[in-house]
Amino acid sequence: MKTRVVVIGAGVVGLSTAWYCARRGFDVRVLERHPAQRDGCSFGNAGLIVPSHFIPLAAPGMVGLALKWMWRPDSPFYIRPRWDPDLWSWAWRFWRAATRTRVERAAPVLRDLLLAGRRAFEELARTTGDELGLQKKGLLMLCTTDHGMEEEQKIAAHARQLGMPAEILDAQQVHRLNPGLRLQIVGGVFYPLDCHLKPERFMDTLQRMAGAAGASFLWQAEVREWVTRNRRIQAVRLQKGQTLEADAFVLCAGVWSARLARQLGLRLPLQAGKGYSLTLPDPVQRPQMGCICTEARVAVTPMNGTLRVGGTMELTGTDPTINPVRVRGIVRSFCRYFPDFQPEHFDRIQPWAGLRPCSPDGLPYLGRPAAWENLWIATGHAMLGLSLGPVSGQCIADDIAGSAPEPLSPLLAPDRYHQHSTP
Ligand SMILES: Cc1cc2nc3c(=O)[nH]c(=O)nc-3n(C[C@H](O)[C@H](O)[C@H](O)COP(=O)(O)OP(=O)(O)OC[C@H]3O[C@@H](n4cnc5c(N)ncnc54)[C@H](O)[C@@H]3O)c2cc1C
Repeated sequence: MKTRVVVIGAGVVGLSTAWYCARRGFDVRVLERHPAQRDGCSFGNAGLIVPSHFIPLAAPGMVGLALKWMWRPDSPFYIRPRWDPDLWSWAWRFWRAATRTRVERAAPVLRDLLLAGRRAFEELARTTGDELGLQKKGLLMLCTTDHGMEEEQKIAAHARQLGMPAEILDAQQVHRLNPGLRLQIVGGVFYPLDCHLKPERFMDTLQRMAGAAGASFLWQAEVREWVTRNRRIQAVRLQKGQTLEADAFVLCAGVWSARLARQLGLRLPLQAGKGYSLTLPDPVQRPQMGCICTEARVAVTPMNGTLRVGGTMELTGTDPTINPVRVRGIVRSFCRYFPDFQPEHFDRIQPWAGLRPCSPDGLPYLGRPAAWENLWIATGHAMLGLSLGPVSGQCIADDIAGSAPEPLSPLLAPDRYHQHSTP
């Protein structure tokens, strides 16, 4: 009999898991609480596939920067102070993780995962005859200040040390890569391995591929509870009381995974990192490749004739409200780097918001927690969920099949905060 796999959540991680599991011949059922015509973090994101982002979010200097930015209403980072023990223990763990030693340990793990993630995208592009619209054009980290340039040069040196190509460019060299585009910068760093695509199109393709490989989808199916016996999960119970049995369960419910994990006695620290994007349908100019305005933490991606501009990281709980002050902050920052654009170009554009599932150490939770024999977890990808979605699905499918080429790093273990208070 085929192995029955239930995947909880149809974001990029859930769909990727469904595809790789279905391709292995498992009997896959995806449970998603929203209807098929849904939105969410995996749809309106910046579409960047970024092996260059091997330094986790929790890095030296980030805590100071976060504290400085917290008091500016239009800054790229914000924590709404509130009495929430989960938030404070998350912040404490973030602070503990933001050290040079921790980053030195995490960077090679993230690099390997990100490079495997890029290979997974290439393979998916080949499998679909490039239906994904994968653009292998690299990524430009743009700097408007000498200080910003110095910081990016240090990261580029670290990248090269880890075998990741990175080219330091002056303003003219950046212009040569983007003829006709006016930029107000002192220079930048080019990462040739990075790619981009339109995430909505990718999600459509992935869903269609998973379906064609045999996965079935249950929409408006919210998982409320687990049915367990000893160390095994027997079934999940949905909002209407229906239960679904399976041999293996994969929790890919984004930022909402923590609540379900807690029911199983698992501590999965997660905070929602809200971000916004705006898509100009007919921009006055377009860069050739994805760009990041480094000092402002704003991503700019050309997508099939349109231009998407995105940013901010707000830790304000799972409240999906759009804060217009922060959206204006993104637009103003973008216009500083791209001076042929004016804030008025965005007047009629409806901002989009998504909630990134953020772990405190900036690494995803990936694999099987020791306490449960047939539960796998894939979440906490924060700013890298698109880049790491396919490879996460691939790792989980391999692990369920018992044919993983090598064990996953313990730094990714989903129970790393369960066994020890500080891993
Ligand atoms: C502005 C912005 C820009 C970004 N840009 C990039 C980028 O350029 N590159 C990159 O790599 N990443 C980027 N990201 C991050 C990336 O979008 C996320 O990491 C990724 O989408 C997370 O995917 P997910 O599948 O884990 O979660 P989600 O997309 O949130 O999916 C989880 C799904 O689970 C469902 N669910 C929840 N609870 C239940 C339940 N109980 N039962 C059933 N279903 C449930 C939800 O409805 C949802 O559909 C960006 C994010 C933002 C906000």
